[in-house]
Amino acid sequence: MKTIASTNSSAFGEPGIFRGQARFGSPMLSDYVWPLLEIRGQRPGPRLCVSAGVHVNEVSSIEAAIRLQKLFDPKAISGSVSIIPLVNQPALYKYSEYICPIDGKNINFTFPGSKGGTFSEVLCDAIMNEWCAGSDCYVDLHGGDLRENVSKFSIYQRTDDAGLEAMGRRMAMCFDAEIVVGLPKDHMQRPGRPPTGFARHGRLALMSEAGANGLLDESSISFHVEGVLNIARALGILDTPMSAFRNARVACNDYLWVETPVDGEFHAEIEPGMRVTKGQRLGAMRNLFGEEIAEITAPETGLVLWRMTHPSLPKGSSVLAVAVEETQVGQA
Ligand SMILES: [Zn+2]
Repeated sequence: MKTIASTNSSAFGEPGIFRGQARFGSPMLSDYVWPLLEIRGQRPGPRLCVSAGVHVNEVSSIEAAIRLQKLFDPKAISGSVSIIPLVNQPALYKYSEYICPIDGKNINFTFPGSKGGTFSEVLCDAIMNEWCAGSDCYVDLHGGDLRENVSKFSIYQRTDDAGLEAMGRRMAMCFDAEIVVGLPKDHMQRPGRPPTGFARHGRLALMSEAGANGLLDESSISFHVEGVLNIARALGILDTPMSAFRNARVACNDYLWVETPVDGEFHAEIEPGMRVTKGQRLGAMRNLFGEEIAEITAPETGLVLWRMTHPSLPKGSSVLAVAVEETQVGQA
């Protein structure tokens, strides 16, 4: 990774605040630069990397990454905090939902990526092995694309490495979340979210989700900001006390997507964060005559992670997702 400093910047890698741009090594990424802000303390310590804007409409998380840049004082911290507030540079000003417009892939499901792959795969590899090289923790902030409303939740990866899993869970609990999801171990068998891709290499990454409909929302912004500050406290970068927790942080261990069986108009009867029981009616699909053509039901007992807000949805697309509580697994 090469860096280009702004005029008001410290030298990269020196104590102080670096402000500028990063350029990754692969020729495939050479048309783009990434905004980079890195705060480095006088004292050595852990390295925390924070990003947002893998999904460019998830603006509360992007705003949180921008605000976080001003919340670490190089005189007060141990180690370093590095922030890229907008990862999906090719989607900027295109308002692409979920995908990177260059290869049509969802960066969020492409980790760990590969050096010889498509643009998104090469970018995931560069994030992991160039920018996050030597990181103790990577946190990717998300939530609230144009047609969705998400609960406040955090994600870590379950793994056979008990120490890594315990650390992931502890860091995910740093967010004042309604739901804390530990992704099942079988996610490790295919490319996935940052927590999955990093865990495949024995490394720690987390995600936080909050927001709705491409709106800036103070409650969602502060959820992301306070969660990252708490992670910096838990890692020992900051020595200030943890902020208060108000939400239940219900521990869950599965993430189930619910699809519509028909083309139609989705009318939800639940909202994100609500508890639901297996088989419960969560909403209905209607046709353009207003007639109900299918029922949407809960696949398991758990909590609603998010739901689509735009009603028009084609057959086979996801209308909502449910997280399964730890205590429910294995029960009839
Ligand atoms: Zn997202």
